[in-house]
Amino acid sequence: MPMPESGRTHDEIVSSLHDLRRNDARWQEGRTFGLVYDGGSEVHAIAEEAARMYLHENALNTIAMPSLAQIQREVVGNMAALLHGDDASGFMTSGGTESILMAVKAARERGRAERAIDHGEIVVPTSAHAAFHKGGHYFGLDVVKVDVGPDSRADVEAMADAITDRTVLVVGSAPQYPHGVIDPIAELAPLAAAADANFHVDACMGGFVLPFMERLGEPVPLWDFRVPGVTTISLDVHKLGYAPKGASIILHRTKQLRRYQTYSFDDWLGGFYASPNMQGTRSGAPMAAAWAVMQRLGIEGYERLTRTTIDTARKLVAGVRAIDGLEVVGDPEAQLLAITTDREWTDRLDIFVVGDALASRGWYLDRQHRPDSLHATVSAGNAPAADDFLTDLAASVAETLGQRTADRSTQYSTLD
Ligand SMILES: *Cc1c(COP(=O)(O)O)cnc(C)c1O
Repeated sequence: MPMPESGRTHDEIVSSLHDLRRNDARWQEGRTFGLVYDGGSEVHAIAEEAARMYLHENALNTIAMPSLAQIQREVVGNMAALLHGDDASGFMTSGGTESILMAVKAARERGRAERAIDHGEIVVPTSAHAAFHKGGHYFGLDVVKVDVGPDSRADVEAMADAITDRTVLVVGSAPQYPHGVIDPIAELAPLAAAADANFHVDACMGGFVLPFMERLGEPVPLWDFRVPGVTTISLDVHKLGYAPKGASIILHRTKQLRRYQTYSFDDWLGGFYASPNMQGTRSGAPMAAAWAVMQRLGIEGYERLTRTTIDTARKLVAGVRAIDGLEVVGDPEAQLLAITTDREWTDRLDIFVVGDALASRGWYLDRQHRPDSLHATVSAGNAPAADDFLTDLAASVAETLGQRTADRSTQYSTLD
């Protein structure tokens, strides 16, 4: 497809973009349970202003752009303090995947340097995010999958059995993505420590929720740097931190451990090259927007959004359980849930058909398998739509009874 021969007008282009977006998920109305997390108009306003200011800045070289070094220090430092990482330090990355890749890379380097392991293994529960498998693939580590227990949480005994003298990294999530339950971090991390391996807590979803739940007096099991053995934590500002896309954080327990993440090369004609993560040139816009959103909300703002989020998630869990034929997988503690067919109803009700019926009503939930379910990540932006959702969910169940779809695909993302 050729580029236009001569440039189009500004207004034409903007109008084309509006047209192009016509079929995109309607997150602005609270109808997507995932993908976009809406912190409200004040959050949008400051994020947009900061992103506009930093749209052209490059965080590749923070000597040339010291403001971005400061922004990164503050974003990382704020969250290290909230997660009780007294000596913790880290970097901003482009997203949860990049944070996880860096945790995998750091674990590999530590295994090589301290234990002379040249072909290491990662031990993960089957609920751990696909990014850990991507990391194993990229960095040449074997990924050992361990089935989760009947409650969807990592099975501590089975994880312990899977650890060998080649294990460089053990993983738990707070909470895990598929069913929203928190792995028993306090029992898992010491297993890694005993093997001199790293332990990563994937708090991509929970990092901006659990600390505020705890401050609100909600029950939250210990999962952060207070747990001995936790060496790295990933948390996404672009999820429940309510920042626009392109912002996540990787924290290491100490600066000493952090050095295994970074890469430097001093034999290039271009000079000494050092880079903390995967990207070379990286946009300042997501970093500045993330900083600005965190400054705008403060602890109180996040507590307010967390209250709304958790109340909404609980309303949905109770609402789903109240609909005959539906069940929630496990007992999720925070803002995620998976909606499945009640065991007794599997011959009469197909949750994927229910999902299709919801989609035709303008709701967006991803499909998952084992068990077949619909994934919902709840955030504050869903609150106004929660009652309508439950009404449409009940209607979708009633209308699809007895139907089954041959399409069992659970595509979560795309290749083109
Ligand atoms: C979203 C998510 C990731 C991956 O993050 P991206 O920002 O999509 O790259 C990893 N782990 C968990 C638990 C997540 O929810």
